[in-house]
Amino acid sequence: MSHQDPNCIFCKIVAGQIPSRKVYEDEELYAFHDIHPWAPVHFLLIPKRHLASMAQLTPADEGWMGRLMVLAPKLALEQGCNPYPEGGFRMVCNTGVEGGQEVQHLHWHVMGGPRPWARG
Ligand code: ADP
Repeated sequence: MSHQDPNCIFCKIVAGQIPSRKVYEDEELYAFHDIHPWAPVHFLLIPKRHLASMAQLTPADEGWMGRLMVLAPKLALEQGCNPYPEGGFRMVCNTGVEGGQEVQHLHWHVMGGPRPWARG
């Protein structure tokens, strides 16, 4: 898929230039384990195409965005999260400086598993 940013660490992960522990891949989406997990299950779910954050989304993104949301609970279970409602997971998308975003490639944290977690 085009529209990659050569300076973006997550674009490099998608391109295989930086190693990652892959959870899922299709034409538009990529998921991989977070390198510093806060929870027993912690992976990141991203569009392959470089978008800096949720603030850059347009109606043209509704298709893969919808697919990503439907995919997240399936991957969470596959990765070891316990089923809803006793189990479940947390999905977080930090956006911008005041949202606590460190990596400027749109990503959702998917976190779950038995508590306590390192954060939250
Ligand atoms: P924060 O670091 O505050 O969570 P972000 O929401 O931007 O900010 O999250 C970036 C996430 O990317 C962090 O959880 C970090 O551990 C993870 N990360 C950074 N580099 C890598 C990498 N090479 N492989 C896997 N995860 C990474």
